[in-house]
Amino acid sequence: MKILVTGGAGFIGSHTVIELALAGHTPIIIDNFSNSRPSVLDGIESVLGYRPTLHTGDCTNPVFLTSVFEREHIDGIIHFAALKAVGESLEQPLRYYRNNIGSLIDILDMALHHGVRAFVFSSSATVYGDPETLPIPETAPRKPATSPYGNTKQIGEDILRDTTIMANGTLRSAALRYFNPIGAHPSGLIGELPLGTPNNLVPYLTQVAAGNRSTLTVFGNDYPTPDGTGIRDFIHVVDLAQAHIATLEVLFSEKRLLETSPVYNVGTGTGTSVKELIETFERVTGITVPYTVGPRRSGDITSCYADPQKINKELGWKAKLSVAQALEDAWRWQQNSPKQ
Ligand code: NAD
Ligand code: UDP
Repeated sequence: MKILVTGGAGFIGSHTVIELALAGHTPIIIDNFSNSRPSVLDGIESVLGYRPTLHTGDCTNPVFLTSVFEREHIDGIIHFAALKAVGESLEQPLRYYRNNIGSLIDILDMALHHGVRAFVFSSSATVYGDPETLPIPETAPRKPATSPYGNTKQIGEDILRDTTIMANGTLRSAALRYFNPIGAHPSGLIGELPLGTPNNLVPYLTQVAAGNRSTLTVFGNDYPTPDGTGIRDFIHVVDLAQAHIATLEVLFSEKRLLETSPVYNVGTGTGTSVKELIETFERVTGITVPYTVGPRRSGDITSCYADPQKINKELGWKAKLSVAQALEDAWRWQQNSPKQ
C-alpha cells in the first residue's frame, strides 16, 4: 500500500517510514523541516538501500497538498506532522492551533476527496492529564488540557472521530495515544535530533553523556514514588513505529472494529522512574552521568504508564524491546549524530 507519512522526517515518522518499507508498503513523506533536517533522508536511505519519495512542503497548504495527492495514489495516511513543545505552545497558542489543527483538517479533507481508506493520528497520553488510576486504560477520562499542545491532541481525536463517522465506512481511522517514546534505530543511522536544547529526558541525558552539556537536572525527587522521582512508560521508538503498521493492517482489513475511530494506548505497561532510567543508561553504556536534583518542573505529573491490553488484543501489537535496549540504541545514535 502507498502510505503518506506527514512529518516523516521527524523522530517517530522517520522510524515508521523504515518499518513501513520493511513491511512491504511504499512510504511517501511530507515534511516542512520545521523540526527536522533533510539529512534524515540519508539515514533512511542507508538503512533501506533506497531513498523514499519526499515532498517538501507544509500540511497547512492545500495547494501543495492537492499537488501531492494528484501525483500519488495514496491508500493510507499516518499523520505525525505537528508542533510538540508544551512550553512553546503556551507562548504561541495560535501557531500551535493553526499548525496542528489546520494541518489535520486539510489532510482529512484531502483523504476524503482522494479515496484514502485508512488514517492513523498521533495522539498522546497527555490527554489523560494527571490520571486517577494506574496503569491507565483508554476508558480513563480525558482531563481538561493544561496546554494548547495538549488541547490540539484532544481536539484532533474529536475531529478525526466526527469525520470518520460522517465518512460512513469509506475512511477507517484510529488515534494512537503514545506514552514516552525513546531510543533510536538499532543501526545508529537515524534517531531523535532535537533542534536546540532538548526538552525531553533521554536526548538531554545522551547529550550530557556525550559531553555536549554539563549536567542533567532531575526535576524533583520528592514525588510519592519509591525513589522520589517521576515515573513514565518509556517505549522504544521502533516498537512504537511497528504499532502504526499493526494499526494500518487492521484498518485495511475487513475486520470489524468495535468502535468508529478507536483510540489505543501505545505503551509497554511498565513504569520506570527517572532515577532508574539514569541508572540503566549508566549500566548499559558504562558512562557515569553527572546530574543534580532540581525543583519539580511545572506541569509534570507523578506517574504515567499505560494499560496496553486493548491494543494487544484488538490489533495484536505488543512492545518487545526493553528500556535498556532503547538506551543503548539512543547512545549509539548520539555518538553518530551531529554535535548540537
Ligand atoms: P518531530 O518534531 O520529531 O516530528 C514532527 C515532524 O513534523 C517534523 O519533522 C516537522 O518538521 C514536521 N512538521 C510539523 N508541522 C508540519 C507541517 N505543518 N507540515 C509539514 N511538516 C510538519 O516529533 P515526533 O516526536 O516525531 O512526534 C510526531 C507526532 O507524535 C507529533 O504529532 C507529536 O505531537 C506526537 N507525539 C510525540 C510524542 C513524543 O514524546 N515524541 C509523544 C506523544 C505524541
Ligand atoms: N525530566 C528530568 N530532567 C529533564 C527532562 C525530564 O528529570 O531534563 C523528567 C520529567 O520531570 C519527567 C520525565 O523526566 O518526570 C520524562 O520527561 P519528558 O520531558 O521526557 O517527557 P514527559 O513525560 O514530560 O512528556
